[in-house]
Amino acid sequence: MGIFKRRSIKSLGKKKRDMPEGLWHKCPDCGAIIHEADMQQHFHVCPKCDYHFPMTAPGRIELLVDPGSFVEMDKKLESKNPLEFKGYAEKIKAYQKKTGLKDAMVTGRAKILEKPVVIGVMDFRFLGASMGSVVGEKVTRAIEAATKDRCAVILICASGGARMHEGILSLMQMAKTSAALARHHDAGLAYIGVLTHPTTGGVTASFAALGDVIIAEPKCMIGFAGPRVVKETTHQNLPPGFQTAEFMKKHGLVDMIVSRGDLRERLGSLVDYMEPAEA
Ligand SMILES: [Zn+2]
Repeated sequence: MGIFKRRSIKSLGKKKRDMPEGLWHKCPDCGAIIHEADMQQHFHVCPKCDYHFPMTAPGRIELLVDPGSFVEMDKKLESKNPLEFKGYAEKIKAYQKKTGLKDAMVTGRAKILEKPVVIGVMDFRFLGASMGSVVGEKVTRAIEAATKDRCAVILICASGGARMHEGILSLMQMAKTSAALARHHDAGLAYIGVLTHPTTGGVTASFAALGDVIIAEPKCMIGFAGPRVVKETTHQNLPPGFQTAEFMKKHGLVDMIVSRGDLRERLGSLVDYMEPAEA
């Protein structure tokens, strides 16, 4: 009998599960295994195939604005479950705990290449970045702050659509945000919309599609209803690449497709070009 016992396959398996989580990422597009450090260095873009991984709102803000310039607005705004939708309050609490955010939108004043802007970023981790009254209110207040400051507003969109837990109150946010953008436009000020994967539903049908300039990240999905619903409703075969950023650019909904690594630079020059004339 040997002195040392062979480790069983079971115990080896257990050791594997002890590996630190989140250190490696698998690209869903090309299957490449990417180390966390590489992910950070490449702005959460696959270095092999240019696949753009989802990003958190705080991560995007850090990537886009001048260091130390971001001052958050309306940080404590949270939903009070106005329709008393069963289980919604608990859901909100769970997502708040998971993400460290009060809802699916982070807004604030910042500078990009030294130009003042108001920026809002949606966070898909929070209930699929669905638009309820808090998201709509924060977007509206961000636009109104930019109008008051006479600077550009930038909204980084990603959304599963309207938040069903708030019913008609969610749908009202489409009109409210669009009206605020119309007033911003009447004041001669710029709005840049950045569409990221996926931008759908009520967000596409309101502020995401109203930019003076509409930018999209490569290959992101942009639509109102999903492709399966469109196919079943219209009984038509959908063309290749339907609802991708590239398809939308070809059909005029998107002005430019910009890789994440170039986005800060591009936003900076656009804000510079569209600066309002001195009064
Ligand atoms: Zn890849």
